[in-house]
Amino acid sequence: MPKTLKAQELRALAASIFIANGSSAEEAQIVADNLVMANLSGHDSHGIGMLPRYVDAVREGGLTPNAKAQVLLDAGSLLSLHGQRGYGQVVGVQAIDIAIARAQSQGSCIMALAQAHHLGRIGHFAERAAAAGLVSIHFVNVQSRPIVAPWGGGDGRFGTNPICIGVPLPGKAPFVLDFATSRVAQGKMRVAHNKGQQVEPGLLIDAHGQPTTDPGVVVVAQGAGPDGAGLFGALMPFGEHKGSGLAMACELLGGALSGGGTWHRPGDNSRAVLNSMLSIVIDPAKLGTQNSFQSEALAFVDWVKDSPAGAEHAGVLIAGEPERLARARRERNGIELDDTTWQEIAAAASSLGVVLN
Ligand code: NAD
Repeated sequence: MPKTLKAQELRALAASIFIANGSSAEEAQIVADNLVMANLSGHDSHGIGMLPRYVDAVREGGLTPNAKAQVLLDAGSLLSLHGQRGYGQVVGVQAIDIAIARAQSQGSCIMALAQAHHLGRIGHFAERAAAAGLVSIHFVNVQSRPIVAPWGGGDGRFGTNPICIGVPLPGKAPFVLDFATSRVAQGKMRVAHNKGQQVEPGLLIDAHGQPTTDPGVVVVAQGAGPDGAGLFGALMPFGEHKGSGLAMACELLGGALSGGGTWHRPGDNSRAVLNSMLSIVIDPAKLGTQNSFQSEALAFVDWVKDSPAGAEHAGVLIAGEPERLARARRERNGIELDDTTWQEIAAAASSLGVVLN
């Protein structure tokens, strides 16, 4: 039976599990709040369903509780940090907050963050920058399993490498474009698999490179590979060769340029998900274009929103709006967890001696 919980209940139970898993109360609350915010935003793929994986990753030593990002280079508007495999929700915020302060004093900042554990929703960082009146661009690579096939390829070669652009809009909520460069996020396949659903054609290939609608091919090992690690199918990149190119750009910028490293080996069974991120943060006020930027951005967004509703659509939404609409709905109605996700969370809790009601 699916279970529906209020956001506050979920935050509290998640925080209690993270504390039992070695986090300080403060860290536990930050990570719990971040995951529940992803659920509230409609992205269950990056919500509380990640908790069992985080518990496993700590147990394996791939995720370090209570770690702080280490500043490797501080050269004014160029910053390089190492995430120390700490919770991305903590070291990522630490890093973006330094970049925000730096963009405010210098006009812009290029911030490289290497080897954080899972950063969750990248939009979280863009929203933080936008709240400070700043534009931000984020390229992220994922080191976990090569789960996305390059355009023209027949097996997974890189991660779901997300890209995100945040633009503040005066008097309005920001434009926050934030998506995986795979056709869908891997976590959405986990959610569909847990619900026993098939997915639409064109999203997946199986472990033999053949198209399939079974999300299980990227969730459950389809046998063992030559090196003993699980054999999986792969997600397709979005936008054919163009999305595939952007996914590679995330690897080259978020992975190679950040110092975090790229993926170039077969998958293994480790549960850690490492993210490295290259963020560019710009202060429009310091660029001298603030007035025209604000009026032109607003005029453009209004112009686009005024488009009449297309066939089978209710009208135009601006990136960031679907998440805000979902938040209002789910704050009111609660967050539904499928049975498998709930059982996995309960098992993770019980492995740490935490009993859930
Ligand atoms: P998605 O396909 O739901 O696309 C989300 C983006 O599209 C958002 O910017 C949203 O506002 C916009 N959008 C959605 N519907 C829209 C509509 N009808 N009109 C206009 N804009 C619309 O997202 P996704 O690819 O499934 O990614 C989900 C989340 O997963 C993101 O937050 C991403 O950062 C995160 N992610 C994280 C990692 C990681 O390793 N940390 C990896 C992959 C994805």
